Amino acid sequence: MSKKPTKQFATRAVRDGTHRSAFGEHSEAMFLTSGFVFDDAEQAARRFQNQEEGPVYSRFTNPSVQMFEERLASLEGAEDCVATATGMSAILAVCLGLLKSGDEIVTTGSLFGATIQLFDNFIAKFGVKVRYVSLTDPGEWQAAIGPNTRLFYLETPSNPLTEIADLQAIGEIARKAGVITVVDNCFCTPALQQPLDYPIDLVLHSATKYIDGQGRVLGGAVAGPRSLVKEVRQVVRTCGPSMSPFNAWVLHKSLETLAVRMRAHSESALQIAKWLEAQPMVERVLYPGLPSHPQHALAMRQQSTGGAIVSFEIKGKSPEASRDLAYRLVNSVEIFSRTGNLGDTRSIITHPGSTTHGRISEEARQRAGIRQGLIRLAVGLEDVDDLIADLKQGLAA
Ligand SMILES: *Cc1c(COP(=O)(O)O)cnc(C)c1O
Repeated sequence: MSKKPTKQFATRAVRDGTHRSAFGEHSEAMFLTSGFVFDDAEQAARRFQNQEEGPVYSRFTNPSVQMFEERLASLEGAEDCVATATGMSAILAVCLGLLKSGDEIVTTGSLFGATIQLFDNFIAKFGVKVRYVSLTDPGEWQAAIGPNTRLFYLETPSNPLTEIADLQAIGEIARKAGVITVVDNCFCTPALQQPLDYPIDLVLHSATKYIDGQGRVLGGAVAGPRSLVKEVRQVVRTCGPSMSPFNAWVLHKSLETLAVRMRAHSESALQIAKWLEAQPMVERVLYPGLPSHPQHALAMRQQSTGGAIVSFEIKGKSPEASRDLAYRLVNSVEIFSRTGNLGDTRSIITHPGSTTHGRISEEARQRAGIRQGLIRLAVGLEDVDDLIADLKQGLAA
């Protein structure tokens, strides 16, 4: 459900969700307090019984966290938003809030590695069945629906192969079947893609990535219609994976630069993807902004740019040879950081097969199409010519 905003994205990113204290500070105050005081016993009672709005306790009502929630809801075009400690706890809170034993999730192998582990190793323990289908084939989503299907869960573009899900087609299938669709919008952020413009119910974030964009704090969020967000908020309130007010303050400020940052990340990523495509050592480049991407047209309908993640495969005679060459590149770069994270001002190089997707089973890795020669770049905000020069010397090694 999309709520039509009256102002443009950049204005909402800077202005929405701003509340001032009695001091009239221009930049938002940071509310580092665990609890709040009440005027009298009657007010305390009203606050506890939800008869009066106002802060109670920072596990579920902290002004810094609420300002971040309000601003992100505005940017996603959502009625409501609840912040969580991390992206993973946002996914967990959705599962705890919306699923019960006997329900089924339909999802895809093209997911963040820890999300697959959460589903297979933990959610499944509570009697929830998880079915894996192809992210890119809406027919498979349709065919996987059974009487107990409750949730469709997906990411687009996917990590690390940048496959694109057809949000309109998959969303329509879910709506007809009364299934709730959740989209992890971590790679695009609302600056590039707003899933709630489609028949999608909930958008979920690891705010740790591009929403912070500077590699400082962890955070997560779930946005959508009030009725569904309420279920997730209840989990956060009761089970406690709450966002810290400090992190919320950092993330709230970060949203002010989100549109500018995502534009710059995307411009450099496109240049790097084009350059990589011309290199003989590179088997293929996976970037939704390239015309050679198998779903380029769909990506450009759903996203305003190709995003900041560029993956590519290095040519090798065998999986081992490809892995050795990929390792050599990772070990030779001087500007790119060798880390598994993404969504930073600093460019990052990752070998997904042995790191982010190293702990999942070989079967799950095959299902996800993660080969040994695969490299993922999360393009940062350094000068793009320096980044290309770094990759050039790395590939020459
Ligand atoms: C990082 C990531 C997550 C998990 O977020 P955390 O904040 O690290 O818990 C979930 N989904 C995607 C796509 C991610 O990249």
